[in-house]
Amino acid sequence: MPETYINLFSDTATKPTAEMRHAIANAEVGDEQKREDPTVNALVDRVAELLDKDEAIFLPSGTMCNQIAVRLHCRPGDEIIMEQSAHVRNFEAGGAAALSGANVTTVPGRRGIFDAEALHSAVRPDEAHFPTSRLMVVEQTSNLGGGAIWPLERLDAVCAEAQELGLRTHLDGARLFNAAAESGIPAARYARDFDTAWIDFSKGLGAPVGAALAGPRELMEEAWKLKHQFGGAMRQAGIIAAAALYALDNHIERLAEDHANARRFASEVAQLSGIHVEEVETNIVLIDMSRSGVKAAVFAKALEARGVVLSVMPDERLRAVTHLDVTPEQVEEAARIFAETHAEEVG
Ligand SMILES: *Cc1c(COP(=O)(O)O)cnc(C)c1O
Repeated sequence: MPETYINLFSDTATKPTAEMRHAIANAEVGDEQKREDPTVNALVDRVAELLDKDEAIFLPSGTMCNQIAVRLHCRPGDEIIMEQSAHVRNFEAGGAAALSGANVTTVPGRRGIFDAEALHSAVRPDEAHFPTSRLMVVEQTSNLGGGAIWPLERLDAVCAEAQELGLRTHLDGARLFNAAAESGIPAARYARDFDTAWIDFSKGLGAPVGAALAGPRELMEEAWKLKHQFGGAMRQAGIIAAAALYALDNHIERLAEDHANARRFASEVAQLSGIHVEEVETNIVLIDMSRSGVKAAVFAKALEARGVVLSVMPDERLRAVTHLDVTPEQVEEAARIFAETHAEEVG
């Protein structure tokens, strides 16, 4: 087994940098539940400003942001509409059903992105038999969609349709800043037409913990109640909020480097026979192994034995994610190891 790994498993793999640890060590703290932690207060003000919403609330995870938002918007029996690959549907342990009694229905999309027509046809008639269509969820960027960015016109179109249909809207912005860094369109513009939106500090931004949900004042007041109810109210949370603030100050613009690294890796891997690499828009590379003659899981194991870790996705695909803790040199090295493994396993 190699001594060091090049970890392309996820952008959750980042560890706090020395400077971030310095910010953590020097954080002013107070009782967050009493809203007296100055660092948390500074952080939520910053997030509200970045997303151009009245207020924001600091939470331990992105999953809790999604689940609190679902509870804010839905009553038991209501239905949420999202693309079939959405995180809320697939990776939150059935939370929408378990915690809010909400039904999830999906629309087909391409790379996680659907259109106004698909949304329209997913909405239920207003009749006693049916669940009440209540909420639309959009993921920017789309994770299982390979880091795809919703183009603004498409986003505006589905939001306009949602409004027309009387739906609430929620933006899963786990990687919203990846979209913003790549397109140059401000995060607030992407979040403009959504009732609630959130960002994750523990993905590409490189903080160890935390996410923040933003929205209108009345909803955020309700969200505070749910933060307590869901067990997300903390105490001296300034310790972790300091890392998030540091990340907002220092790690947004550099996301473009991750995107360049992802493209570099993809362009090398794409040259190998039997391998199809999906279009790279941000920091996620999806590699279709289905025509290579080797199982994605087997290939991933062989890669790991050589020191490169990535993840195995459905449909015989591999996913590589670039982030703060992988250098351009490591990405070159990972591509070289990928080619070597390919020569061995595929021939
Ligand atoms: C990671 C992720 C989440 C959940 O965030 P956590 O902070 O890991 O709970 C939600 N949505 C998307 C699209 C994600 O990639």
